[in-house]
Amino acid sequence: MTAYDWLQKALTTVHKANWYRSVKLMDGPGPTVVLNGREVLNFASNDYLGLASDPLLAEAAIAAIHTYGTGSTGSRLLSGHRLIHEQLERAIATWKQAEAAIVYSSGYLANIGTITALVNKRDLILADTYNHASLKNGARLSGATIHEFSHANVVDLQTLLETHRSHYRRCLLVTDSVFSMDGDLCPLPELIALAEQYDCMLLIDEAHGTGVLGATGAGCVEHFGCREAELIQMGTLSKALGSLGGYVAGSASLIDYLRNRSTSWIYTTGLSPADTAAALAAVEVIREGDELRSQLWQRVTQLKQALTIQLATEDEHQTMQLLPSESPILCVQMPTPAAVLTASQQLLDQGIFAPAIRPPTVPTSRIRISVMATHQPEQIDHLSKALGKIAQRS
Ligand SMILES: *Cc1c(COP(=O)(O)O)cnc(C)c1O
Repeated sequence: MTAYDWLQKALTTVHKANWYRSVKLMDGPGPTVVLNGREVLNFASNDYLGLASDPLLAEAAIAAIHTYGTGSTGSRLLSGHRLIHEQLERAIATWKQAEAAIVYSSGYLANIGTITALVNKRDLILADTYNHASLKNGARLSGATIHEFSHANVVDLQTLLETHRSHYRRCLLVTDSVFSMDGDLCPLPELIALAEQYDCMLLIDEAHGTGVLGATGAGCVEHFGCREAELIQMGTLSKALGSLGGYVAGSASLIDYLRNRSTSWIYTTGLSPADTAAALAAVEVIREGDELRSQLWQRVTQLKQALTIQLATEDEHQTMQLLPSESPILCVQMPTPAAVLTASQQLLDQGIFAPAIRPPTVPTSRIRISVMATHQPEQIDHLSKALGKIAQRS
């Protein structure tokens, strides 16, 4: 017997519950990848604009390595702050129409570090129940009292505010902008109105909105025309921006405060020069033209229309349902975890990788599809026909 024997037992329990997960080896970020030795269409990437394999980003990263080295070699406050960090933070702030921005080593760390810096045990957090794990864990770590409102439900949120708000010092409303496992958007204008009415801060996580939504790709805040509101706009450099890292944009005092109080920024090494430069190049590419973004939305529209037709004609028993989405994340809901696992395998047999997402990650089982600007129209067509065939058999 050793002190570590419990690990194997715990893993056995995970296996028995059918919750065991393991990594899959893929050869790259593109719309087609080699998975288990076989080329498949990749409908599981967060690289919405295909920038992770863009030569411009690669060149910027290589140039930054030559100028600044491979590592930042210290925390930002001690010795790891470079000009390129400043340039990226300025570019993000301008893009987001915020006074200032701060970059973290990941989106996860940005959420943890921001929430724990802003609220503590005298405060209240009201959060959408579908929020990303990093928001949930940040909330728990902060020590604040947490109440979740039902998904995108502002009536429920208002009831919670009426009941609880007056008993706490500060209140932080927290929401994803694009919900990552559904593809729908948060009701931002209503959330802003409630935040103002009840004297709350509002943190919006634009992980899946940045680069994708809004006239200049600045995200859900721009999409809804809410750029005047004082917000805490968080996002990641790791999805549409094709790099690695996270950011927070907001008022100059917010960012200054985070630099002084956010421990997941203070006590960690500055973002690597290569990641910083790639993200900066991505922001420039996105701000300079909307070609990639409009191509992305063309593909999304194509898939939505094709799927609607396929499911209407092939799915006699209406067992498969396209969930409401206003983003490149499209989900086809199915009745059981077993059905969705079978469907995902049938897709794979036809050379398509689109993962099955099951409870407890989500309340209902679904195939989750994420569209990229670099998918070809024929590839979108292949996916919708393959799903139609699955619907026919179910
Ligand atoms: C991916 C994601 C994050 C975490 O970002 P990373 O940069 O990958 O750590 C945070 N929030 C949401 C909603 C996400 O989808």
